[in-house]
Amino acid sequence: MKIEHRTVGAFEENCYLVSDEDSGRGALIDPGDEGEVIVDMVNRSGVTLEAIWLTHAHVDHIGAVAEVRRHFDVPVFLHPLDLPYYTRLSARAAEMYGIPFEQPDGPDRELADGEVVSCGALRFTVMHVPGHAPGLVSFNGHGVAFGGDLLFAGSIGRTDLPLGSPAEMDASLERFATLPDDTVVYPGHGPKTTLAREKQSNPFLTGRARPVRR
Ligand SMILES: [Zn+2]
Ligand SMILES: [Zn+2]
Repeated sequence: MKIEHRTVGAFEENCYLVSDEDSGRGALIDPGDEGEVIVDMVNRSGVTLEAIWLTHAHVDHIGAVAEVRRHFDVPVFLHPLDLPYYTRLSARAAEMYGIPFEQPDGPDRELADGEVVSCGALRFTVMHVPGHAPGLVSFNGHGVAFGGDLLFAGSIGRTDLPLGSPAEMDASLERFATLPDDTVVYPGHGPKTTLAREKQSNPFLTGRARPVRR
């Protein structure tokens, strides 16, 4: 397995390209902005792109979907509970933040908890972990987790955005923490980390802090 990434846009979002080195087939996770940079990453890698997998549909995670799809005719996978963001709210957020945004078509496939998605010989299990966004999912497999804005090195995703839920975030973190401790977490923002490290020092996993219930 090979993982490349580019950090893109005003919100410094991580877009990942995960691929199976034997078959050269891969998937793009969260093409958030700077489409030309992401297209260049895919082209340089030589990977045959099979799909775009979205952890969720906040504006900083879907802003380059339209541009990427002009170059690669691949389906977009999204959990249906994030449709309001994909179709409406992210365009509105872009206006609010004064950042450029191109409304993408789709999505094409609905993700569900427990489903397995694949590229080449790679298999990732979809874990629905809402709270930061209602349709947030993590793609887990091969010792890694692409968890979007669920868990960051030292922190967690915001729960005060529209459709966010501190109570759901609490439950999702608890569930995510049942993955093996040596799982390498590739977050939507900031550096990668491990579950073990976060369990030791992340205040939201040590129990020293928690998303406030409302
Ligand atoms: Zn987000
Ligand atoms: Zn984000």
